[in-house]
Amino acid sequence: MLTEEIELTTTHRSPALSATNIEAAVKALRERGLRVSAARRLVLEALYGAEGPLSAERIAQGLEGRLPRSDLASVYRNLETLEEVGLVRHVHLGHGPGLYALAAPEHEYLVCESCHAVRTVAKAELDGIRSQVLDRFGFEARFTHFPLVGLCPRCLSESHDHEENEHAHP
Ligand SMILES: [Zn+2]
Ligand SMILES: [Zn+2]
Repeated sequence: MLTEEIELTTTHRSPALSATNIEAAVKALRERGLRVSAARRLVLEALYGAEGPLSAERIAQGLEGRLPRSDLASVYRNLETLEEVGLVRHVHLGHGPGLYALAAPEHEYLVCESCHAVRTVAKAELDGIRSQVLDRFGFEARFTHFPLVGLCPRCLSESHDHEENEHAHP
């Protein structure tokens, strides 16, 4: 029954499942008939302890000694299962592999294409843009899977300074 539901929904469209702590996440997994192995629990610990999205590699490496190291392939498998269930989402913040974070509360991301700074924002903060795009194109924009890319305030002001200098000394 559970397996069928998972196969019918694609990873990103599975509704976000909110679990405020590891115990709630473990309970949610058990209710869905999923085992909570030591390896799976480690992945949860990494995600609940993280301040931002993490790569599978960093989780496998034990987050700089904060957690035991684990097998990368098993970390990926566990992240995949957690994502299918809706507890986890991945986001592509650069050219590398996706980064993983808890699905709730839902966050969206702004990435600077010049200095690669990442700003995490509550989803509601981009609702204004979302409704403009929806009105104009009938398209519902999401910045959870791929971020909104542009220039951060610092790089923007540097590029303006640069332009002013160019005007001053043509
Ligand atoms: Zn920047
Ligand atoms: Zn993806």
